[in-house]
Amino acid sequence: MQVLVIGAGVVGLAVARAAARKGHEVIVAEAASAIGTGISSRNSEVIHGGMYYPSGSVRARHCVRGRRMLYEFCASHRVPHKKCGKLIVAANAAELAKIEAIAVQGRRNDVEGLEMIGGNAARALEPELSCIGALHSPQTGIIDGHAFMLALRGELEDRGGAIAFNTKVEGAARKDGRWQVKFGGGDEFAFDAVVNCAGLGAQALARAMADYPATRVPRLIMAKGNYFSFTGRPVFKRLIYPTPVVAGLGVHITIDLAGRMRFGPDVEWIEREDYTVDPRRAVSFYERIRTYWPGLPDGSLAPDYCGIRPKLSGPKEAQADFLIDAPAQHGLPGLVQMFGIESPGLTSSLSLAEDVVDHLDS
Ligand SMILES: Cc1cc2nc3c(=O)[nH]c(=O)nc-3n(C[C@H](O)[C@H](O)[C@H](O)COP(=O)(O)OP(=O)(O)OC[C@H]3O[C@@H](n4cnc5c(N)ncnc54)[C@H](O)[C@@H]3O)c2cc1C
Repeated sequence: MQVLVIGAGVVGLAVARAAARKGHEVIVAEAASAIGTGISSRNSEVIHGGMYYPSGSVRARHCVRGRRMLYEFCASHRVPHKKCGKLIVAANAAELAKIEAIAVQGRRNDVEGLEMIGGNAARALEPELSCIGALHSPQTGIIDGHAFMLALRGELEDRGGAIAFNTKVEGAARKDGRWQVKFGGGDEFAFDAVVNCAGLGAQALARAMADYPATRVPRLIMAKGNYFSFTGRPVFKRLIYPTPVVAGLGVHITIDLAGRMRFGPDVEWIEREDYTVDPRRAVSFYERIRTYWPGLPDGSLAPDYCGIRPKLSGPKEAQADFLIDAPAQHGLPGLVQMFGIESPGLTSSLSLAEDVVDHLDS
């Protein structure tokens, strides 16, 4: 088949690589001039364990399977990564009950090695921590997300696939059993299959597909996640997370592959795409981080970057799952739409890609 993948973020690149491995002819259309300039370059670069998501959800399945696939891929393609482990910490009895529930959910989701430990055991691992107990996830890690995307691109191109940069897709319609796709500048080409991996642009693009019912396009709700970098000497070796908050995992401490620490992301509901980080948000960061790291020095946080989560649910709603609308659901052959691929989309990408390519055959 001739397959068009729209979007060269981590999900589009993973789908394109999987389609090329299956022997399809693959073109990726990317509106920007490089790979991974969207959500995929504005995240925590954490390889998630998979314990937060409800049993049977799309996120639970792809996060756990995708994580295992990702570690194998990193090893075989020499993508820099580290299985550094993570602690989810409890500051009081109510939070302890919450993290115990996460441990139970994680075991149900088949996450390996989860262990509840006491405050002293947590401090033996990370002496600066303040907590009464923690959930240790040894399978959680960090990855160089850009190196991962470069490796996906390399394999796609080795198998004859190509990426067309500065190429915005403006619409598509069924014609003579194929998808007639309209590109910016007025060009039109036909494909057997089309996969919409446009991230924050997925809804607008789906609405521009003449035969795809507008009623199937979910609302796009944007939740910005701001990060602050730590200007002092790093003190933690593992990722440190508080108990989760509404719509996010709580302001956590992530480390990069050089060992540097940063904090975030928080949750800021926005109406328009905007990538500025308001320095005043530091006040709430100090407050939240000091609940588990009282030693955080004054004046040590500097505004860093932010990313925008393409959510399908708002602040007062139950967290929506990833939405993959495939031919079996909507009835149009050769079309897969991917909506709401927020966290853990990076971790899940290789697993999502396998399923998407299977949908193209169905
Ligand atoms: C703050 C934050 C933290 C996160 N942390 C993690 C984490 O630690 N671990 C994890 O697993 N996941 C994390 N995620 C989730 C992860 O980053 C995303 O799920 C993933 O990057 C989504 O990739 P994507 O390819 O779908 O989107 P994108 O990377 O945004 O790619 C979409 C691409 O489509 C292009 N495009 C849009 N419209 C068109 C069009 N009409 N024509 C052509 N091209 C188009 C865009 O230019 C863009 O390059 C985080 C997300 C956020 C926001």
